Parts: sequence; C-alpha cells; structure tokens
Amino acid sequence: MSSPFVDSFGRHHDNLRISVTDRCNIRCFYCMPADNVEFMPKSHLLTFEEIVRFVKVVVQRGVKKIRLTGGEPLVRRDLHKLIEQIVAIEGIDDVGLTTNGILLADQAQNLYESGLRRINISLDALDPVKFKEVTRREGYEQVLAGIRAAQEVGFDPVKINAVSIRGLTEDQIVPFGNLARETGVEIRFIEFMPLDADATWQREKVLFASEILEKLSTEIGPLKPLPTQDPSAPATDFEFEDGRGRIGIIASVSQPFCGQCNRFRLTADGKIRNCLFSLEETDIKQLLRENADDQTILAAVEASIQAKKEGHEINTARFIQPDRPMYSIGG
Ligand code: SAM
Ligand code: SF4
Repeated sequence: MSSPFVDSFGRHHDNLRISVTDRCNIRCFYCMPADNVEFMPKSHLLTFEEIVRFVKVVVQRGVKKIRLTGGEPLVRRDLHKLIEQIVAIEGIDDVGLTTNGILLADQAQNLYESGLRRINISLDALDPVKFKEVTRREGYEQVLAGIRAAQEVGFDPVKINAVSIRGLTEDQIVPFGNLARETGVEIRFIEFMPLDADATWQREKVLFASEILEKLSTEIGPLKPLPTQDPSAPATDFEFEDGRGRIGIIASVSQPFCGQCNRFRLTADGKIRNCLFSLEETDIKQLLRENADDQTILAAVEASIQAKKEGHEINTARFIQPDRPMYSIGG
C-alpha cells in the first residue's frame, strides 16, 4: 500500500462515508424541508459500478472503513448488492450502514447475507406522537419492527442514533437509557448540528451531552466511560456501572472531536467533502465518467484532504452553514 491520506494537521483519513441517495421516506425537521424537496436527478447519482470503482481506488491509500448513508440508503434499490461488492474488496475491513429503519424489517435478511454486520438505526423518540413531530411522517412502528428484525437476524452491534433537541427530547433520555438496559442496543445521543435544510438551528436548541449524562446518572444510575475507545470515533462510550446498558455520546457542538477526525465523504452525486461543514467540494463523478486513471482520482482526493480545515467553527461568530443540508451530504 502506498502512503495514507494525511491532511496538513497530520490526521490520517481511512474512513469513508458514502451517500447512496439524497431521497428519503421521512422528513426530519433537523435535516430536510417538510415539503417540495428538490432531489438530485437520477442521472446525477453515482451508479453502483462507479461507487465500487471509487472504493477500489481509495483502498490503495489505506481506506478501510466504509459507512453507507444518505438520504435514506434503503430507498436505493438493491442496496444489498452494492454492499456485497464493497465487503468483497480486499483491504476493506469494516462496513456499516446508517438507516432510519423504516424499510429495514423487509431488507434485514438480505443486508445480513450481503456481509453487512454493523447497523445504526436513527430514532429520536420512543413515542409515536413525538416521532411524528420530528419526522413529519408516520413510521414509528416500522422503525421498531426494523430494530427487532436487525437484532433477530444477528446484526451486531445494533445502535440507535437519537438527535437531542432542547425543548423536545429531554423526556426521551430516560426511556432510551432504559431501552439500552433492557435490549442490549447501544443508544447514541447526538447533539443537534447546524445542517438543517430550513436553517432554523440555534445553539439554544442543542441539548448538551453533559446534560444528557447528568440526567441518565441521576435518574437511572451512575455511568462509567468504557476503557477501550477508538480515539477517532465520534462517540464517547459509557456503560452503567452495574454493567447493564451502553450509552454513546456524540458531542459535536459542545466538545468537538475534529482533532482526531479520520473521515471524508462521497456524496450521492459524486462530490468529495473533507468535512460535514465544508464549504467546498471536489467533483469525482466527472473523473469517474471520463474514465480517469487511478492516479488522477487519487490526486483529486489527496488535494481535497490536504485542504481540510482544522475544525468546524460552529462555536464561533465565523461559522457559515453549508448550502448542502444533511440529507444531501450524507450524515
Ligand atoms: N436516513 C438515514 C438516517 O436517518 O439514519 C441516514 C442519513 S441521516 C442524514 C444520518 C444521521 O444524521 C441520522 O442519525 C440523523 O439523525 C443524523 N442527523 C441528520 N441531521 C442532523 C443534524 N442536523 N444534527 C445532528 N444529526 C443529524
Ligand atoms: Fe431522512 Fe435520515 Fe434526514 Fe431523517 S435524518 S430526513 S431519515 S435522511
């Protein structure tokens, strides 16, 4: 293998998030507009062949971890066939999927058979009324069925991603803590980030990690950090001291983890983004469609990673929200 992708701050980039679509079957308010969403034309989406080619190219520089996301990845037809091809690429040793879970019960078996083992399911409330308030669509029971199916089929780990929003999800923290204890599913609380299509994010709406941990500790029981942690992982993991129930905290706003970041992203329309909050991107689709050679593609990725900023600036007056909302970047 030749040298890894290293940015100007010495961070190694071996972790790629691939968005397979910007379409979605729900409309979470912190991500998408409620109605009249303009999706990318189908011809702009990378084909499975193009995605696989890109992965084969970047593997040469040590990329070994892939996560598929969207939009909602399970609305992309035959996703399991893409996963099967990615899992088979030599050098890829970890493939994960982030999904809203609505279509998961139907697809869990196929996904498992494709070689996928790690799955994160997004669910912000354990209450159908609140679910609808967040997602502006029905689907709560389908998500629960998806979580059950994922566990039954054998996915391990199954994690739940819950975005925490002040004034809305405080009362969900303890029920989620209890769910973690009862089912063995890890609950990961994510601070609300300024990537919503409606640009209504305000710092006051972020329910901070410290408050979540405090609530869990006082209302359920003390938590201890888990010893073996991957320093580049966005979540800090905890366990209740009695050994029952795992909690992950993604404190993107209150405790940014940019210093350890090892991630870059490929959007569904074939753009490289070196950060969720990046204001620039690099077009890879055109290179793939021109049948550019591997070195040309690698040089484009290298240049993008080299240009990565030290960190996001959410906590400064300089912060500018990117034009692309989360559903179009791939979270
Ligand atoms: N549709 C899939 C899902 O919801 O899991 C995959 C894409 S979604 C963009 C990926 C993750 O980003 C989800 O866990 C979602 O909750 C999270 N997310 C979306 N917008 C966010 C925001 N503004 N702040 C924090 N997390 C966000
Ligand atoms: Fe869809 Fe996921 Fe965005 Fe919710 S967070 S609107 S499920 S892409």
